[in-house]
Amino acid sequence: MRDEVVEAMAPFAGLVYGHASGHHRQARAARQALEDARDQVADLLGAAPGEVVFTSGGTEGDNLAVFGVLWAAARRDGGAGSVVVSSAVEHPAVLEACSVAAARLPGVAHVVAGVDSRGVLDLDRLDEALDEDVALVSVMLANNELGTVQPLPAVVAHVRDRAPRAAVHTDAVQAAAWLDVPASAPGVDLVTISGHKLGGPKGTGALVVREGTELDALFVGGGQERARRAGTHDVAGAVGLATALAAVAKEREEESVRVAGLRDRLADGLLEAVPAAVEVAERASVLPGHCHLCFAGVEREELVVLLDEAGVCVSGGAACASGALEPSHVLSAVGLPPAVARGSIRFSLGHTSTPEDVERALAVVPEAVARLRA
Ligand code: PLP
Repeated sequence: MRDEVVEAMAPFAGLVYGHASGHHRQARAARQALEDARDQVADLLGAAPGEVVFTSGGTEGDNLAVFGVLWAAARRDGGAGSVVVSSAVEHPAVLEACSVAAARLPGVAHVVAGVDSRGVLDLDRLDEALDEDVALVSVMLANNELGTVQPLPAVVAHVRDRAPRAAVHTDAVQAAAWLDVPASAPGVDLVTISGHKLGGPKGTGALVVREGTELDALFVGGGQERARRAGTHDVAGAVGLATALAAVAKEREEESVRVAGLRDRLADGLLEAVPAAVEVAERASVLPGHCHLCFAGVEREELVVLLDEAGVCVSGGAACASGALEPSHVLSAVGLPPAVARGSIRFSLGHTSTPEDVERALAVVPEAVARLRA
């Protein structure tokens, strides 16, 4: 976590331990901190404070958006004709929520819109899926494996034109560290962010729910978060999330240039040093911290272990899916041959990354790949 986040959270683990829904002095101090955090998050995401729902992270935000909107739509429309459309490369927190909703809620169907060979949503495929029956469209702002940024302004325009009853959700979990969300995804109805992608605390996040967007709660009970998410507030977590988001926004311009420079040095160096290395995404439309490469003839799990022994921590594509041997749904969606996809590695750079880290990776990766190929 960022130092300023640890520092901002510290009082709430100790002296300021009040329950934010109570009425005594300690509770009021906690409440004040919670509402200050909400104001800050709202401001940075281009929302009104009342539109911010604190969650336990990206998974909950995505689930709340998908199930919450579909339940509300089913209630409104008597359970008939609620279609949810997502891109093929969404995080499983969206994709599985959509498929589970389709399996469990009467009348709900899930339609998947494909992507091109670089991982960018195909707007013609989206158009084919849009009509009056669509209740929700979910397209991530940037992909977690490839780092590809999706054309959210065009997505919103197409949805408003062709599916007037649909709400638009964007999973900005990966993007929020690098992009100004309101500028990159103007006009969306729901936005998910997660603290641990920002140098904030794990298990924190927020879902922006625009005023007028109908959404049923997943957690009911105490009525917190304007009855959209019941449960005692994680005040320290909300303060940490807000502090991390503010730090990211302050540094974004400079850090994007610095980290993209490191990433370019890493990617170019590896493409040069490792024969037949493949870069799937178009670098100009990839987040600065993402370097995704495929090394054909290598099993990614084996490479992850070898590199770890050499002091380089990488992920075999999607961190959440590490351990799975089959090519990820993202690489299948871009049409990559399985033999190439199996050797996919995601190098993630961020605010703590240095030129020395990059040189270390450049020194050990080519040798590790050569060893495994041999
Ligand atoms: N969405 C995306 C794009 C992600 O990358 C992740 C996690 O890596 C999630 C959702 C899930 O977020 P969390 O780990 O906060 O539950």
